[in-house]
Amino acid sequence: MKNKVIIFPLLIVATFFLTKFWSSSNKDIEKAVSVVPIVVDTPNWEYGLMIDSFNVSQGEIEPNQFLADILLKHKIPYTKIDQLVKESKDVFDVRKICAGKKYCVLTDKEDTAQQAKYFIYEKNPVEYVIFDLEDSIKVEACQREITTSTKMASGIIESSLYQTLVDQELPVELAMNLADLYAWTIDFYRIQSGDEFQVVYEEKSVDGTVVGLGEITAANFVHNNEPFYAFRFGEIASYDYYDENGQSMRKAFLKAPVKFSRISSRYSLRRFHPVQKRYKSHLGTDYAAPHGTPIMATGDGEIIEARYKKYNGNYVKVKHNSTYTTQYLHMSKIAKGMKPGKMVRQGDVIGYVGSTGLATGPHVCYRFWKNGKQVDPFKQKFPASKPIPVEDKDQFEIFKNEYKAKLDSLKPKNVAALKTSTSKGVL
Ligand SMILES: [Zn+2]
Repeated sequence: MKNKVIIFPLLIVATFFLTKFWSSSNKDIEKAVSVVPIVVDTPNWEYGLMIDSFNVSQGEIEPNQFLADILLKHKIPYTKIDQLVKESKDVFDVRKICAGKKYCVLTDKEDTAQQAKYFIYEKNPVEYVIFDLEDSIKVEACQREITTSTKMASGIIESSLYQTLVDQELPVELAMNLADLYAWTIDFYRIQSGDEFQVVYEEKSVDGTVVGLGEITAANFVHNNEPFYAFRFGEIASYDYYDENGQSMRKAFLKAPVKFSRISSRYSLRRFHPVQKRYKSHLGTDYAAPHGTPIMATGDGEIIEARYKKYNGNYVKVKHNSTYTTQYLHMSKIAKGMKPGKMVRQGDVIGYVGSTGLATGPHVCYRFWKNGKQVDPFKQKFPASKPIPVEDKDQFEIFKNEYKAKLDSLKPKNVAALKTSTSKGVL
């Protein structure tokens, strides 16, 4: 009896839903059947014009071809071309028209003379200039709408990052963007086979055609089996990349390789050499400090030279990344264990102040290379290295966890587990 009481209302409910479902799906079928196809001429828009009413002739600017050559062919008199050149100056200088770029001439279908009504010059896939050739000439610089979509990619490096991207038909600009992002962490000239990456990035397209890459949103680069995560975080105008701990991916150099010192000679292209007694350039910064003062590496990096040379005395050279290298001269002693191949952290003691080589008194001559050229470190604009502000920490954690999960899902073992044949896809 008790069971019947429960089952009966259940039956009513079930019948209600079943009939409801049945009738609604029937209605859908009726609707589908009753649709009568009506052919509507939807006008095609291009360049903000209803293109169907024009005859369109497209082409590519040939070498040494001028705007006048094209327009004369399309019945625009020379006087008008002259007027156009003058009037368009503020919007677009027609002398900048260059070979290989696409253009388009529109003539009215009704016009028996087929005189050009519009000339459109495509600066690139995004920007174009439209010349309205009617009585009063109008020139307008226009832009197509850019759509940004999120993409994911991953790969294991066999020969080079570039080749891995090419093999996977991924945009090669990703290599540059990754190298920039990891400039302070990984030397991209030294990445090796077996290194892997996972990346979430933006792609820009116009009318379904990819026109370029946007920013990297998050990435993980596994170098020497060590993961390096990077997350883009912050306001659009002032975002930065942070590691898993919320530390900036960009690191500044220490202001000086020695504490409690004074600069005795700055970087200069012409100074009087105290020992050689003649003018010559001094491409380093000298810090005078007591004999034996510890000298620190000003940034993370790898020691590439640690030896004695006649003029340099005992010195150590540190390569920080593919852009920056520093060198420390005249050491009384090179610190223990400092030899080529040794990795050092910012602040590690690499030697001690002395006056070996060509030096008058105890000092360290600090030399700084950017892209192979000695520069004045004081004139370099180094990125600020600030951690995530305390008040944004919670938000960063949420963002980081979301994107870390996305990156981890792209790891080779996870991709294999999903049995996906491609590691590329839209989010
Ligand atoms: Zn010096």
